[in-house]
Amino acid sequence: MSNGIHLVFKAGERFATTNPATGACLADYAIAGVAEVNSAIARARQAQEWWGRTPLIRRAALLRRVARLLNEEKEALAQVITAESGKPLQEALLNDVLVSADAALFCAEDAASVLRPEDVPHHNLALRLKSGRLEWEPLGVIGIIAPWNYPLSIPAADTFAALVTGNTVVLKPSELTPQTALELERVVNRALDDEGLTTLPRPLQVILGRGPTGGQLVEGDIDKLIFTGSVATGRHVAMAAAERLLPVTLELGGKDAMIVLEDADLDVATSAAVWGAMLNAGQTCISVERCYVQRKLYSKFVSQCVQKIQALKVGPGADPQTDLGPLITPRQLHIVEQQVDEARALGATVQTGGRRLRELGENFYAPTLVTDVDHSMSLMCEETFGPVLPVTPFDTDEDAIRMANDSDFGLASSVWGSTRRAERIARQLHAGTVLVNDLISGFAVAAAPHGGVKHSGLGRTHGRLGLRELVRPRYVDVDLMPSMKKLWWYPYAQNFQPMAAFVDMLHQPGLMARLRASLKTIPLLLRRRR
Ligand code: NAD
Repeated sequence: MSNGIHLVFKAGERFATTNPATGACLADYAIAGVAEVNSAIARARQAQEWWGRTPLIRRAALLRRVARLLNEEKEALAQVITAESGKPLQEALLNDVLVSADAALFCAEDAASVLRPEDVPHHNLALRLKSGRLEWEPLGVIGIIAPWNYPLSIPAADTFAALVTGNTVVLKPSELTPQTALELERVVNRALDDEGLTTLPRPLQVILGRGPTGGQLVEGDIDKLIFTGSVATGRHVAMAAAERLLPVTLELGGKDAMIVLEDADLDVATSAAVWGAMLNAGQTCISVERCYVQRKLYSKFVSQCVQKIQALKVGPGADPQTDLGPLITPRQLHIVEQQVDEARALGATVQTGGRRLRELGENFYAPTLVTDVDHSMSLMCEETFGPVLPVTPFDTDEDAIRMANDSDFGLASSVWGSTRRAERIARQLHAGTVLVNDLISGFAVAAAPHGGVKHSGLGRTHGRLGLRELVRPRYVDVDLMPSMKKLWWYPYAQNFQPMAAFVDMLHQPGLMARLRASLKTIPLLLRRRR
């Protein structure tokens, strides 16, 4: 057993993908079993020997080339992403392809400054005859387990960060979106060829399959794991990783709060709330899952949001007119439906939506706004991951802060209103990212770290902090007087008092007291060391 899941691989087992909008079968793929996972890891380890020695300038050039290829192929890639994930084409283009290209360029441009050795100045007088520096070396083979909701940008950003820091990668994408990962692998391999880096094996290996394939990757000979997915799976993965002291970064679920103050721009804030809750049919880890509006603005806010939600065009993501696509699976739709129905039964009011759109297909759910909600409802405390905007009023800033922080999650949140007041509130929110008068877009800032607090995860991806998580520091210390024995070596006899004076010389308050102490250290200099 592994990670709570039995690793049962039947030889030759396959899995199929379907288009969430139409239910049509897209393709079927062979599942990577134990042998395939281990040989992908072995290939990645072999590749790390040449890739880790490849000068950074060439690794960066590869990522510049990748960014160029992503741009050249953006429309075709967006179509693959939409077919597998159901999201509207524009979202696939911007939130997957563009974010990935930006991440590649960021890695190419910023890795040198992150990986440059750093001087470590010595503060203690006795240690000044040495120089110290921190050097950074790749960890080795990075396992990446990815979800389906951002099937390109999540694994791509992690892969690029790993590659530029000299690591190689074994990527296990979601079983719902394998083709997008194969496209990423193809683009990286083409960039390697274009850059004349045709050496085999390749630094990015993709393995396909469901949970057990991911479980096998966690058990395999990797040096670090970046897991993005649900809290439940993240917990299993973390337990399996702890067993063998495998370092992990966990990017897990969210229940992001949006706080709207009375001095916010109503029109802007309502458009933001609707987009922030409905983007990717609400299946975004940093989507608006709870909205708190100051009482003075509350009823106008609700009615404007309802109008804007009712104007959304729901349909297949492949139709360029579509604003909102289907949910990924009937299972995900069922979770959303259950939460809305439970809230309704507990007294919530569904202002719009709150039902399936069977006429469009099995996975469509109407964009929904719910009021009269409270924290006894799962809609307000568990991740919904659907096109639902629950809105509730608050009175004081302190009330808003308390309600927003009353959650097991802490991925991102946003505050809307006059900048100074919103920033004051932002500083008190328990979240990895807080945006003032904006939402979601922090993820698109390639230089910004991404990650959560509480059950939303451990560690950071993206930005300089994300790069630092993929390297191991090595402290190198060089003695500048190699022919001199150290004053603190043997013998200890008659050393204690002069040594106590030495401590005084460094830490006694007052210049005169320190000077007097320094005279008492002279015997240390005269003593012969063994
Ligand atoms: P999931 O946890 O079901 O699956 C994620 C990945 O883990 C998939 O590739 C899956 O095959 C694999 N997996 C499943 N069981 C496994 C096991 N026992 N061992 C190893 N791997 C296993 O999540 P999902 O449904 O694909 O994604 C949605 C979730 O991801 C949501 O909770 C969302 O909030 C979260 N998410 C978080 C972030 C973030 O950055 N924090 C980003 C996107 C999605």
